[in-house]
Amino acid sequence: MHGSSRRKVKIVGTLGPSSNTQPQIEALIRAGLDTARLNFSHGTHDMHRQVFASVREASKAAGKYVAVLQDLQGPKLRVGKLGPEGIVLKAGDEVLLYPEGTTPKSSTTGRIALPISAEIAGPLSKDVRKGSKILFDDGKIFSEVKSASPPEMVIEIQIGGKLTSNKGMNLPGTPLSLPACTDKDLKDLKLGLELGVDAVALSFVRYPKDVTFVKEQIRKTSNHKPLIVSKIEREEAVYTPEGILEVSDGFMIARGDMAVELGAEKVPKIQKMLIRMCNELGVPVITATQMLESMISSPTPTRAEASDVANAVFDGTDAVMLSAESASGQYPINAVITMSQIIMEAETATDRYSVHQPLTPISGSVVESIEYSASKIAGHVGARAIACLTHSGMAARTLAKYRPEIPIVAIMDSEASLRKLAFVWGIEGVLIPELVSTDDLFGMVSKVLVDNNRADEDDIVVVTAGTPTLGRGTTNTIKVHQVKVPVSRS
Ligand code: PEP
Repeated sequence: MHGSSRRKVKIVGTLGPSSNTQPQIEALIRAGLDTARLNFSHGTHDMHRQVFASVREASKAAGKYVAVLQDLQGPKLRVGKLGPEGIVLKAGDEVLLYPEGTTPKSSTTGRIALPISAEIAGPLSKDVRKGSKILFDDGKIFSEVKSASPPEMVIEIQIGGKLTSNKGMNLPGTPLSLPACTDKDLKDLKLGLELGVDAVALSFVRYPKDVTFVKEQIRKTSNHKPLIVSKIEREEAVYTPEGILEVSDGFMIARGDMAVELGAEKVPKIQKMLIRMCNELGVPVITATQMLESMISSPTPTRAEASDVANAVFDGTDAVMLSAESASGQYPINAVITMSQIIMEAETATDRYSVHQPLTPISGSVVESIEYSASKIAGHVGARAIACLTHSGMAARTLAKYRPEIPIVAIMDSEASLRKLAFVWGIEGVLIPELVSTDDLFGMVSKVLVDNNRADEDDIVVVTAGTPTLGRGTTNTIKVHQVKVPVSRS
């Protein structure tokens, strides 16, 4: 069985050592993967180039238009190299944080020296105050700032543990003046644009200007236009997401860092708030991190994880994401299959349990009115599918906002535009050579639907299009259509 059959919510899977060869990627796609995430917190450019090419080849072999999402590391704070054994930090220890590659200015007698990158040490030591919290390794080790003398600072460990090289640092509650996009991000972005990634995810977005800066960099340096997905994980973004949403093409609810920054107990409420906000504006949203965490080392999920995936479906998410489960776990294919099964089971009950609010179209917008009406008409007439003839995919994305129960078949002539729908709820893409007006437009639609197993002869479907020319941004037509494949005259 194809893992994506009749599934509305999409699956984003991170590729890594467990899953980045071409045969492994093809197996993940056949299991149901819709979007491949390349995590630029790890790996070399050569490796990413190779994995990118493998995704494209594997997609071709599996006959599915899988998107590539480049996830930039952003200003992630990390400790430096701590030797093969790491160091053990105990409650009460005083620790000096100083720029990597420099000799600490302050005396380290009775203190442990902990290098951090020079790029972050300077601004960080100016941003903190006495008592500011600094967390290490996903919040497992907890400390407070005692004093700062830029570019160095002294912290006192409150909750200790073993700290190893390159582990993450978080400063919940401290507004940081670090650049949103680091030199590494710009180099990685250049590679992404050169490869032609379909979407770029920005980590630790705080303000709309963090997004517009990257968009401007892209506009200045490339003709390629990937979608920009803002990862919501910092406090500033969580509490004022509206402006960021306006300039983003998608949101990712990055629950990993969000939990360290804000506390795990806040995550469920924030997830629901962000999904609802994205749904109302028709902006695709990905729910990420630890969805099937135990499947890193177990072939089956916990009950809590199954509930987590299902509840994200009921919340109205467009996509759910696998991180280490697919990148470095022991059961990457099983994780995708399991996720797909949980989604499909949850989707049999969304009419009862979904918290998605019925929406009405934005007044004055023709495409909104058409797609809203198409979703209603399709329900009334018991249509098999809604076919959207669309150049950019915008009409199909608008239709998805209204969450019709039946498949949305986006008929498009651009593979690049079609891939950009790979993390949008409910859309199944069909690529045709050219989307042009013909005398028998609806005969053409019938043939495309039947040829691609999206409908059978005599089925009722609803079609939306821009007639008579099928030009860009011209959606103005709804037809309730009985599928009749034209008899070939050859
Ligand atoms: C997260 O923090 O939840 C996340 C998705 O980001 P990353 O995997 O890059 O830490």
